[in-house]
Amino acid sequence: MTGSESEEPLLRRAVCPGSFDPVTNGHLDIIARASRLYDVVHVAVMINQSKKGLFTVDERIDLLRQVTAEYGNVKVESFHGLLVDFCKERDIPAIVKGLRAVSDFDYELQMAQMNNGLSGVETLFVPTNPTYSFLSSSLVKEVAAWGGDVAHLVPPLVLRALTERLAKR
Ligand code: ADP
Repeated sequence: MTGSESEEPLLRRAVCPGSFDPVTNGHLDIIARASRLYDVVHVAVMINQSKKGLFTVDERIDLLRQVTAEYGNVKVESFHGLLVDFCKERDIPAIVKGLRAVSDFDYELQMAQMNNGLSGVETLFVPTNPTYSFLSSSLVKEVAAWGGDVAHLVPPLVLRALTERLAKR
């Protein structure tokens, strides 16, 4: 990376993109591992106007900021449009993604190849910690909505927010 026009030219940057509705221990595991490999990790929360989440984008960002504060080098932001544009604007050469199972692979490979073809950005896949290989935000919401215990799958702060939100429904 040349980074000659960036304000912090020598920093190695990566982005972890996703919906994070809400952030789970699986996401956090990938973010924490990326934060040990890169100087700055941007967590990019996707704005999807056509899909209403359980949490608003601002609420997701707020939860993410609180649970990643301890890493010190994680920046949480929202984005809409193309991820490659988010990367270009911030001089980010790498996307870091967790791969849960073979079922993730087909789509992730297509996206990685498309993004690389669009702008040259690289995608690095980190194998999911097996403890979280079945874990997704949607499954957590579904189980929690039916009263199942998800305390071991999300940070305590997220568990509280989830319980409160679901009680209001
Ligand atoms: P989901 O709704 O499936 O939890 P997101 O769109 O918020 O997913 O996930 C963003 C990215 O976070 C995924 O593309 C993947 O790279 C990573 N991720 C999600 N869940 C996990 C997990 N359990 N373990 C590792 N990585 C994960």
